[in-house]
Amino acid sequence: VNSLLESLARAVRGPVRRGPAELRRVGRDGSHVRGTPIASVAPKDPDDVVALVRWARRRSVPIVPRGAGTSLDGESVPVLGGVVVDLSGWNRIREIRVDERSARVGPGVVNLDLQRALAPHGLFFPPNPGSWTVSTIGGHVGTNASGPRSFRYGPTRAWVRGVDAVLGTGDLVHWGSRAAKRSVGPDLVSLFVGSEGTLGIATEVTVRLAPRPSVRRGWVVPISARAPLGPVAASLAGSSGTGLSAIEYLDARCAAELSGPLGFDRSPPGPLLLLEIEADDRAEARERERHVRERLRRSGARSDPTVYEDADELWTLRGRASLALDDRLGERIREDVAVPLPEVDRLVAELQRIARAEGVPLYLFAHLGEGSVHPNYAVDPASPRGRRVRAATLAASLALGGTISAEHGIGSVKAPFLTDEIGAAGVGVLRALKAACDPDGILNPGKLYPPPARRAAGRPSRSPSGSGAGRGRRG
Ligand SMILES: Cc1cc2nc3c(=O)[nH]c(=O)nc-3n(C[C@H](O)[C@H](O)[C@H](O)COP(=O)(O)OP(=O)(O)OC[C@H]3O[C@@H](n4cnc5c(N)ncnc54)[C@H](O)[C@@H]3O)c2cc1C
Repeated sequence: VNSLLESLARAVRGPVRRGPAELRRVGRDGSHVRGTPIASVAPKDPDDVVALVRWARRRSVPIVPRGAGTSLDGESVPVLGGVVVDLSGWNRIREIRVDERSARVGPGVVNLDLQRALAPHGLFFPPNPGSWTVSTIGGHVGTNASGPRSFRYGPTRAWVRGVDAVLGTGDLVHWGSRAAKRSVGPDLVSLFVGSEGTLGIATEVTVRLAPRPSVRRGWVVPISARAPLGPVAASLAGSSGTGLSAIEYLDARCAAELSGPLGFDRSPPGPLLLLEIEADDRAEARERERHVRERLRRSGARSDPTVYEDADELWTLRGRASLALDDRLGERIREDVAVPLPEVDRLVAELQRIARAEGVPLYLFAHLGEGSVHPNYAVDPASPRGRRVRAATLAASLALGGTISAEHGIGSVKAPFLTDEIGAAGVGVLRALKAACDPDGILNPGKLYPPPARRAAGRPSRSPSGSGAGRGRRG
């Protein structure tokens, strides 16, 4: 390893780090998955990334791009060892083009910092994952992240106009265009977004921006535990004139965890809806709120909402739901499935059945307006019971016409399940694309693509640089 790292230090200009604290830091993400990297490197510029990729190809060493490391399925964990490429220092906002409503940013720019820089221009970047105070634009591109506002604005994929990247071949590419409209064959930018660092390393991202509404209020609304969620969401989602940009749900258990920060000490505790209402001025806001109240009343929600004048404050608190559950439950299954809205209640009933059958507590929150549900099961994800719970949850979503990942991605945890959703032919196409962009398979191996044979999935394989697979690779 020493001679390998000496050759790495000669090949790249950025610092190579290998202290135990650094290796621990970059050996994990927000999931239970762990890896054992041999070093982290912070390349200086795109040429340095090219040098790094060439070095990795020559030596057959895995390299794993990383932003803030908040991914939730092992996406940024070096499960086969190798070198972590730390892009958090690439945090410069290079240009804001107000008239084009776009910005060129380094991949390490943190979402919150971008929003702060855009606010004086009356603009914002719509994707707002719960981790927005720390997670990076490069990470959002890697996982196609969403958040509460994707109900109105869609996921990261809808907000990326171009990507500069170094592919696994060592080629520097610029995919996309400054033009707002474009029809040039299959979209390579869309292909890159959600590729989890397996095709290339983004060195710059051009994002689209939206005009920032002058009123953006957050509402917290208590609802009955018996209220059917699909019809409540459909009633809110299906009406024009509400200005709703987010429809979120916390079940009674999650709401109780957040009752302190949200100022919502309900006794007995019950579920909550969290809404965002946008308007251009106060008069329009009043009209829209009247509309939302009416919809809620028809759905049986009669309590007055608690209002946050600045919805961002509410989303920061809502992001803490995960952290509160971290404190209470420790390692757990944090799933991320989505079904068509009319199937939400059937999905929730099935998740409750799975939890009962396996004897594990279930905590559930949802981006309800999109049928995107996060069941959190208090069980060790790597245990046999945890694996059964995850497999049953993903199967339930697929059986209802849904998906195995709404927004977090596939990572190493769900790679063995990808074929269940997109079929063998779909996986074959993805593998061919991967081979075209990364012929030696050095970029973030062990993620996204299913292991070649299912029987191999549980077995740790060895990389040339040593290090076993993360615990619980099959979830
Ligand atoms: C408390 C909490 C709340 C969350 N809430 C949400 C939510 O509401 N919605 C949601 O979608 N997600 C959510 N997440 C998941 C996670 O925060 C997002 O996926 C986020 O986009 C990851 O950003 P990151 O900077 O941490 O990326 P990382 O974890 O560092 O990386 C994520 C992936 O992107 C790749 N990558 C990183 N940088 C680059 C680059 N420059 N080029 C190519 N690939 C790269 C990595 O290899 C990895 O595969 C949450 C996580 C936590 C811990």
